[in-house]
Amino acid sequence: MSRNPEGIAHAISRAETVAVCSHINPDGDTIGCALAMRLGLLALGKKVSIFCQDKTPDNLSFLPGISEFRKPETCTDSFDLFLAVDVSDPQRLGNVQHLIARSAHTAQIDHHPTNPMYMEVNSVDGQAPAACILIYEQLKALGVPLTREIAMCLYTGISTDTGNFSFSSTNAETFEIMSHLMRTGLPLSEMSRALFRERSRQQLLLLGKVISRLRFEADGKIAVMTLRRKDFEDCGALNEHADTLINFGLETIGTKMAILGREDQDGTIKFSLRAKSPATVDDVAKALGGGGHPQAAGAQLPGPLEDAVATVLAAMKEKLDRQG
Ligand code: 5GP
Ligand code: MN
Repeated sequence: MSRNPEGIAHAISRAETVAVCSHINPDGDTIGCALAMRLGLLALGKKVSIFCQDKTPDNLSFLPGISEFRKPETCTDSFDLFLAVDVSDPQRLGNVQHLIARSAHTAQIDHHPTNPMYMEVNSVDGQAPAACILIYEQLKALGVPLTREIAMCLYTGISTDTGNFSFSSTNAETFEIMSHLMRTGLPLSEMSRALFRERSRQQLLLLGKVISRLRFEADGKIAVMTLRRKDFEDCGALNEHADTLINFGLETIGTKMAILGREDQDGTIKFSLRAKSPATVDDVAKALGGGGHPQAAGAQLPGPLEDAVATVLAAMKEKLDRQG
């Protein structure tokens, strides 16, 4: 597992048409990667399509090129290169996966330590705080000039994946890159308001539901949160509105880990797992068939909600006993 900007640059140099692909339930990092890469490849004269199975989050609607995301279902185009960005495993591509068979070559740029290196060319650094860090480096290797628009996309991924520059993964390189992004005239204040200091009405209503049912287990060391489909319906909310709610459970004094289980449309239960460093949850997620980062991971289990939560809680308690 290592960064390989030269290998990716070589794959790109041989390609005329590129499909840049984001993961399901997209976040700021995978969207920022795809949009920055799109602008960089366009600057190099490539034909670029960007794909994501799911709708992009409303709070990212200001990003340049976000309306260009295509749905994969109806795509009959062929591509010289399929490039996955911030996608920890091929399942996380969802139905974008079928475009792999329509592509001559495949590559990926990612930062998940659990990545199984599933492409022909892999540039993966499990220590990087955001995949957008690797995209910055990649665009530099490709000789693409850094513009304000590219900086906006990269800042989105870097800031959201570092918890606004606060997670333990945040390092000197993060700020060195940020310094370059700032020099392009990055509208930091406006963007950070949209990303971190404002939330939608649906999200606030959903927060009320989740807090009203919040419970603490293991002497307060584990916060457990749940959301049913009915909660989403009552609040007029979409899955994306639940995305950061788990932080409220984790950000409790004495809590070491947090679980958020939410019912998906198809009845499966989508789990978000979080831990305060040095506690970790990626191994728990992996044992449950998921994956992610040491302090932020996820998995999907079959319903019903109570049974799935009991399974995950038991695994978390066992982990807590082992690591103290
Ligand atoms: P979230 O809780 O925000 O959905 O996800 C946290 C992290 O865990 C993300 O980096 C995401 O890539 C990873 N993750 C979430 N769900 C899954 C899953 O089902 N499988 C894998 N491999 N990773 C996941
Ligand atoms: Mn990421």
